[in-house]
Amino acid sequence: MISFIDNLVPQAVKKLMPYQSARRIGGDGRVWLNANELESTLFPGEVGHNRYPDFLPQDIAKAYQAYCETDAAAVAVRGADEAIDLIIRTFCKPAQDKILICSPTYAMYEFCADALAIETLDSPLKEDFCLNVPDVVNKAELANIVFLCSPNNPTGNVIPKAELIEVLEGAQGKSLVVVDEAYIEFEPQTSAVSLIERYPHLVVIRTLSKAFGLAAVRCGFILASSNVMQYVAKLIPPYPMPDCSSQIVLEALSDERVSVMQDAVRQLIEVRNHFAAQLAQFDFVEKVYPSSTNFVLLKHKPEHQLFSVLAKNGIVTRNQHHEPALRNCVRISIGSQESMDEVIASLNHYQKELHQRQQAQTKEPQFQLDKNHI
Ligand SMILES: *Cc1c(COP(=O)(O)O)cnc(C)c1O
Repeated sequence: MISFIDNLVPQAVKKLMPYQSARRIGGDGRVWLNANELESTLFPGEVGHNRYPDFLPQDIAKAYQAYCETDAAAVAVRGADEAIDLIIRTFCKPAQDKILICSPTYAMYEFCADALAIETLDSPLKEDFCLNVPDVVNKAELANIVFLCSPNNPTGNVIPKAELIEVLEGAQGKSLVVVDEAYIEFEPQTSAVSLIERYPHLVVIRTLSKAFGLAAVRCGFILASSNVMQYVAKLIPPYPMPDCSSQIVLEALSDERVSVMQDAVRQLIEVRNHFAAQLAQFDFVEKVYPSSTNFVLLKHKPEHQLFSVLAKNGIVTRNQHHEPALRNCVRISIGSQESMDEVIASLNHYQKELHQRQQAQTKEPQFQLDKNHI
């Protein structure tokens, strides 16, 4: 039975035969001369990297399914960013189809679409950064893919499951719904993964770059129904995962390391909550938004550009001011307790300077008054 999912896939993609790499064709033999590799490493005694890795590393995908406790199809890719690009190329026809985002959100959805001349429609988040569900559902009609991000970067909030289900129901028969869960480890109970079984047009993107602390390894995952995955698999480049990364990833997904990660998440959340409470006490901080992630978003009063204040002290944060909905907002990643203490110390210092300047200003006229009396 052909579903609307099949109809979203451009003909050019449907016709593709997956690239026939030497590893995929495989064979049965003693002497392997089929892939133009060197037959042995140039540095005897070291671990050799002369042979191509698996064409689609199943062991990593299986380990990730186990970690997610899901039967949904899984595939490892080079970071969530590659997942975004792959999904757009699989389900949108360049220079014709459209995607839908809910701004402010992660910039890569629009960037990848732009590169393919795919128009990005927007259903802006409401003032409290919640979805405008009826608007999302309306606009889903015009788009091949709806990109949601939960917890959302850079606003830090999650999409409640009831709202996500409303979007999934509304997008049924119209568009794919992709949920980017890059920060899900900081609020795991809100994951959409268990909904894939009920909604085959739901795709979940994950990464090991954030809570797992493996940004340099470049590993992300796509979780989806087998119907979605058969098409994505056509476009995945051969040998997507370098050998060294595969080994690190397999180890990271062992029970022991996952529980280390979960402990680290708990600790980070404590540091984050304490830091957010401290931030909220400064006069020049207008608002600290609630966070379900490893960063906080704050809004400062317009006359206090905290991004620059911190930069002068060698503390690099992310200025969000360019985004109309995030005027005077700064995003600060949560690091060690020491680093967060440095931020607070910097802001304390700035506050002290402000007070001194204010006092100097109120004193000056008095001084002049005194002079006039003489
Ligand atoms: C960091 C981030 C990504 C990119 O993750 P990689 O796996 O490092 O490519 C994707 N989506 C969101 C929302 C992110 O914040």
